[in-house]
Amino acid sequence: MGKNLTKRSEDYSKWYNELVVKADMAENSAVRGCMVIKPYGFAIWEKMQAELDRMFKETGHENAYFPLFVPKSLFEAEEKNAEGFAKECAVVTHYRLQNDPDKPGKLRVDPNAKLEEELVVRPTSEAIIWNTFKGWVQSYRDLPLLINQWANVVRWEMRTRLFLRTAEFLWQEGHTAHATEAEAIEEAKKMNGVYAQFAEEFMAMPVIQGVKTESERFAGAIETYCIEALMQDGKALQAGTSHFLGQNFAKAFDVKFATKEGKQEYVWATSWGVSTRLVGALIMSHSDDNGLVLPPKLAPIQVVIVPIYKGVEQLDAISEKVGPLVKELKAKGISVKFDNRDTHKPGFKFNEYELKGVPVRLAIGQRDLENGTYEVARRDTLAKETVPMDEVVAKIEFLLEDIQKNIYQKAHAFRADNITEVDTYEEFKKVLEEKGGFISAHWDGTNETEEKIKNETKATIRCIPLATENKEGKCMVTGKISPKRVLFAKAY
Ligand code: AMP
Repeated sequence: MGKNLTKRSEDYSKWYNELVVKADMAENSAVRGCMVIKPYGFAIWEKMQAELDRMFKETGHENAYFPLFVPKSLFEAEEKNAEGFAKECAVVTHYRLQNDPDKPGKLRVDPNAKLEEELVVRPTSEAIIWNTFKGWVQSYRDLPLLINQWANVVRWEMRTRLFLRTAEFLWQEGHTAHATEAEAIEEAKKMNGVYAQFAEEFMAMPVIQGVKTESERFAGAIETYCIEALMQDGKALQAGTSHFLGQNFAKAFDVKFATKEGKQEYVWATSWGVSTRLVGALIMSHSDDNGLVLPPKLAPIQVVIVPIYKGVEQLDAISEKVGPLVKELKAKGISVKFDNRDTHKPGFKFNEYELKGVPVRLAIGQRDLENGTYEVARRDTLAKETVPMDEVVAKIEFLLEDIQKNIYQKAHAFRADNITEVDTYEEFKKVLEEKGGFISAHWDGTNETEEKIKNETKATIRCIPLATENKEGKCMVTGKISPKRVLFAKAY
């Protein structure tokens, strides 16, 4: 098949787009900004979903489903949220088409089928969910309410990129209701922590947990927690967000509960989400000029076995050895594929699985049969070795763990090398220009300064890291007091 991928060093963005398509993850569709997720890409998303879903349930959440459409009057109820999303909303105005009397063979909206109330295609579901919660919450006994929804949402984005930013995307959105402010804040932080754990343990992607500045905050939130990751080209990516919504939605939808003491109080809220953007993050964190590099924990195929043979007899002899191995691996929960297609040559298959990032590849030919060995190759380092058949299962188990660890460490080392502390704006601009990455600097806490830096350099404050200790300094732009350093970067 020949990979012919653009090299990352030549054009990172082109490399990414080509890789997504060539590795069969997704493609552009007939709808502007909307993608088709192909089976291989969807299999990765399904693995992500499965792990996240398990983690949400372990932390006490239940899944439910709410409508795709939000009546405009409900959408408007929480003003800040509505205002923040208004510019990206797709709106349904009619419910029927009819033959166009002026253009034979064409359809038009039926002017008599105008909706009484326009429907917003959900860009996020706080409005419809809080309108529903009103009927679910009466007393403190009904709280907390810990709900998650797996769904699609639509945000009419102008600049889109496969997985990273699409007009329609798949995600999960958690929506919780609590009796106290402290409990809601705790929940928002906890779920941000769950995202961080998922990113690091499963995606092998190190992330920084922090809070957003006011200008980057979710519309309608009091505080937005986030996980931020660094991509190989030195740009940052917001990988997940968790919002403390205060009582904004409870007030907008009049959701009150009776306390133990019999008082009526507004409920406290959170919401949190990660999307198919994570698939893009995964690709950009580990992959190389040969194709995808996938963490074993999320790889749809963990081990592929390629037979090298001439004629049916040799293939039969190989299949006889491979059969029990496949069985044994499957019994251990390892996903394995024996690619005995006779329509493609081994070289083609090697290329294909390299491109698709299959962590471990076994090859077995006539010589291996005679010697009782497999050739074992790992995708992350491309290293190959010959392994006796009776040691191959242990080798595979070792490699799956080792690759997971190794790519995390590599990504972690890369990030460590690409966080630069600066004290002056000159230095800041120089590092941004020459090196990129995260830049840790003092900022005076004002919108104006943040905006000025953004306009002049395109860098934004990715987050105020939770782990950074308070250590006073002077804003690199205005010289005013800053309580601690914040992280800047150019971002996707
Ligand atoms: P938000 O509701 O804005 O906090 O977004 C929740 C999550 O969805 C965030 O982690 C974003 O990174 C992700 N996200 C936001 N917009 C898009 C988009 N257009 N395409 C894919 N993911 C997105």
